[in-house]
Amino acid sequence: MPTIAIANQKGGTGKTTTAINLAAGLAEVGKRVLLVDLDPQGSATAGLGLDIYGLERSIYDALLEDVPAHELITASGFKGLDLLPSSVDLAGAERELERDIGWHVVLRDALSNVDGDYAFTVIDSPPSLGPLMISALVASDHFIIPIQAQIFSLHGIKQLMDTVRKVRERLGSDVALLGALLTMVDWRTKLSRRVTRRIEETFEEKMFKSRIRTNTRLAEAPEYGEPILAFDAKSRGAEDYRNLTEEVCTRVRA
Ligand code: ADP
Ligand code: MG
Repeated sequence: MPTIAIANQKGGTGKTTTAINLAAGLAEVGKRVLLVDLDPQGSATAGLGLDIYGLERSIYDALLEDVPAHELITASGFKGLDLLPSSVDLAGAERELERDIGWHVVLRDALSNVDGDYAFTVIDSPPSLGPLMISALVASDHFIIPIQAQIFSLHGIKQLMDTVRKVRERLGSDVALLGALLTMVDWRTKLSRRVTRRIEETFEEKMFKSRIRTNTRLAEAPEYGEPILAFDAKSRGAEDYRNLTEEVCTRVRA
């Protein structure tokens, strides 16, 4: 079943917001979805209402203690959406992980055991190009790059695409770009319009037609531990993520 990594080594580009709300969007249309929180900051875990300090076990145990993933997965409170949570332990995990032979494939293999239970797996990744991020790419069929409409670093995107190329060439991965997603779009600013043009020139037909507008409800929802579709189903944020969900379903089938 398709696994989609949400990737961009820059912080604050809307990765976690996209991971949570795309995963919830897919669940809302009747798919069983697993959201994997691979960021030591645990924003996706916290954003679904779990206390990352109170968790006894997390994805750390799958990566470093060989605990089967199904023992670590928990219901999210949103129908159809399960979560493989992160924890603060994960912060030190990258170095430990790297000492293990074949570390690149540990996440992929852990997830392959639960793959059959889900129609989609979505992975939220940390803001770096380190081992966790590489693990996410190796475990995935597709990746989505969320890009903040106000800030665009072509250099950063080149670095990311270069990492993906090496992962494909050296690690036998087939991971491919599903699309680039504009986030925090605000048409009132000239900057947003100018930057958007550059992003569109870079990604061409790989740009998602759906765009995520700036919407404060999207920023508030995590405080209540809910995806936007539960927190404010009629908001612009909910509308935008529903459109993205539809487009993702079409692209994955294509
Ligand atoms: P990342 O995971 O890439 O670091 P986040 O998804 O956590 O990015 O987003 C960074 C911040 O911006 C968060 O506080 C989030 O709530 C907020 N945010 C994300 N997308 C939007 C949006 N479309 N409108 C308003 N705020 C947003
Ligand atoms: Mg994040």
